[in-house]
Amino acid sequence: MYFITYRKNGQTGTGVMSPDLQTFYPLPWNDMLEAIADEQDLLNAARQLLEQQDSAAALSLSDVELLAPIPRPRKNIFCLGKNYADHAIEMGGKESIPEHPMVFSKAPTSVTGPEHPIDYNPEITQELDYEGELALIIGKQGKGISPEQADDYIFGYTILNDVTARDLQQRHKQFLLGKSQDTFCPMGPYLVHKSAIGDSGNLNITTRVNGEIRQQSNTRHFIFDIPTILATISAGITLEAGDIISTGTPAGVGKGFKPPRLLKDGDVVEIEIEKIGILRNRVRQV
Ligand code: MG
Repeated sequence: MYFITYRKNGQTGTGVMSPDLQTFYPLPWNDMLEAIADEQDLLNAARQLLEQQDSAAALSLSDVELLAPIPRPRKNIFCLGKNYADHAIEMGGKESIPEHPMVFSKAPTSVTGPEHPIDYNPEITQELDYEGELALIIGKQGKGISPEQADDYIFGYTILNDVTARDLQQRHKQFLLGKSQDTFCPMGPYLVHKSAIGDSGNLNITTRVNGEIRQQSNTRHFIFDIPTILATISAGITLEAGDIISTGTPAGVGKGFKPPRLLKDGDVVEIEIEKIGILRNRVRQV
């Protein structure tokens, strides 16, 4: 099942996509966080709508504004740094491959939706970069989650662009400023229930800039797999329904090229992940 959050006539709503992904059926929840918290009711409601296939109830995506599946997370988005060896090497050589998961976060206000602009302010950064990533959404509260239990705590998956100002990332040592500028967290287009994904540790991931492939990998190349990530974060931190964890980016970021190939006004970044879809955003100089 492919869930969306949308805006129509100033109102926010949730929906489930029809099987051909052309139309969707509105769900009774206005807020995806509430829908996920009612996981069983949500799945039952979505299943019923998909069985009925009532074309009179279906809306076209072109009639609404698609938002990030979770437009305003309750807390910062957890992000893995250097979770693909080839990316760690391009950013600093073999010695920068981490021994333990590297975790940082992005502010909730950085989230933006598919087809929404990534704002580029040259007075703030001269080094705007993309990072295509698989993100998972937590389905229920948990702490001390063992790797074996991890899948029970996952609701589903989406695509996340961990947009980064490389100069701020470097200058301020901590990653927060370089990663958390407004619009630096495009997400979507769908929140895909885990039942439609199967093995999330074997998904092809591709990033294109203006149609040119920059990143091409598969989540089987994670250094730390999703069960390990969940166990590490939840050891002493309570994870809650709707929390988002982004799993890191493979090689091929702009900064990894010599010379660097950073983003500029008008560039279109597309991240495609198998079984999820394509997240597309254009860079807009402000
Ligand atoms: Mg990243």
